[in-house]
Amino acid sequence: MECDKIFENEKGELITTPKRKFSTIDEATIVAEYENSKFDRTYKVVTYKCKICYKYHIGRDGNKINDKERDNSSKKNKFK
Ligand SMILES: [Zn+2]
Repeated sequence: MECDKIFENEKGELITTPKRKFSTIDEATIVAEYENSKFDRTYKVVTYKCKICYKYHIGRDGNKINDKERDNSSKKNKFK
């Protein structure tokens, strides 16, 4: 089964795009840390286990990220 992100385009059509899947939480965490270290990020990205595909996705949890958290993510960021 696929788990898709659903959003509406400017014409009001529903568009689905597949979510990024990670087989391990470690992989998902690396990407989440990378996302959280971006200076223009407003909302925190978290990893979660999907109830549909049983893999890991990353997504916003609705909480705003603060400078300290962004800093911490930046230090842990393995892409640098
Ligand atoms: Zn899924």
